[in-house]
Amino acid sequence: MSAQRIVLIGRSLQHSKSPVMQNAAFCHERLPFHYEVLNVEPEELESTMLRFKKGEFSGANVTIPYKEKVLPYLDRITPQAQRIGAVNTIFREDGLLVGDNTDGDGYVKSLLEDFPNLTFEDMTILIIGAGGAARAIAVSMAMLGVKKIFIVNRNMEYASLLRNHVQAWVETEAISFDQLHKIIRHVDLLIHCTPVGMYPNPNESIVPKSMFHTGLIVSDIIYNPIETKLLREAKEMGALPHSGTGMLLYQGALAYERWTKRKAPLEVMRKALLQSLSTKLT
Ligand code: NAP
Repeated sequence: MSAQRIVLIGRSLQHSKSPVMQNAAFCHERLPFHYEVLNVEPEELESTMLRFKKGEFSGANVTIPYKEKVLPYLDRITPQAQRIGAVNTIFREDGLLVGDNTDGDGYVKSLLEDFPNLTFEDMTILIIGAGGAARAIAVSMAMLGVKKIFIVNRNMEYASLLRNHVQAWVETEAISFDQLHKIIRHVDLLIHCTPVGMYPNPNESIVPKSMFHTGLIVSDIIYNPIETKLLREAKEMGALPHSGTGMLLYQGALAYERWTKRKAPLEVMRKALLQSLSTKLT
C-alpha cells in the first residue's frame, strides 16, 4: 500500500523541521503516512488545492504566505481558525477539507509544560510582533481570559490592527517600542514573535537586557537557535526563559492528531526535533 501524503504548503521550505519530526512519529507508530514539503508558487496555489480536493493529499500544514490564502478552498474552518483568521493545518473529515490553526494552542501547551501552575486570569501579557504567529498566540491567550494584552510592533498600523482584532475578547493596547520600558515592569509574560535573533543573526535581541526583571516569564518563539540572545539575557537578569521549540513541537503534535485521529508520540517527536535542531544550525 502506498503511503498517504501529508504536505507542507509554502515557499522556501528547505529548512523546515516538520518533515523530520512528523516522519519520525509516523514511522514509530507504523502508520502509512509520509510528510513532505511542497514548494508552491502563488500561481500554483489553486491547482495545488484542486489536487487536494481530488484526494492526492491526506492532510497538510500551511505556512507563509498561504495561511490566509487557502481559506476559500476549504469546506469547513474550525472555530479557532476562524477566530485567528488563518489556517496552519488541513485535515479530512467526513470527506470534507477542514482548516484548523494549531499555532496558538501549541504555544499554550508548551508554556504549560514548562510552567504547569500558571493561572491566566490575573496575567498581563506583552506580545512583541503583530504578524501571523503573534495573532494566533494573542487569540489563544485571549480565550484563556488573561487580564490584559499589550502589543508592540515596529509598524504601529499592524499593531493597531491586531489590537482591534483581539480586543473583542480581552482588553488590549497597542504601544510603540519607545513605551516598552514603562510597561514591561507591569508585565507577567513577554512573548517575542519577530524573527529578530534568529539564525543567521543570533547576536541580535529586540529587548535591551536591562529591561528584564526577576520572575518575568520570557518566551521566544524562535527555535533556531534553541537559546536565543533574548532568552540568555532574560535568564541572566533573573527572568524565566521559555524556548520556541515547545511551540514547534506542540503545534506539530496537534496537527498529527488531526490527520491520524490518534494521540501523538510526543517524546519521539521531541527527540527527532531537538536532534535535528542541534545537529544543523540552519
Ligand atoms: P510574520 O507574519 O512575517 O510577522 C513578522 C513580525 O516580525 C511582524 O510583526 C514584523 O513587524 C516583525 N519584524 C520582522 N522583522 C523585524 C525587525 N527587523 N525588527 C522588528 N520587527 C520585525 O511572521 P510570523 O509567522 O508571525 O513569524 C514570526 C517569527 O516566529 C519567525 O521567526 C518564525 O520563525 C517564528 N515562528 C515560530 C513558530 C514556532 O512554532 N516556534 C511558529 C510560527 C512562527 P512589522 O509588522 O513591523 O513588519
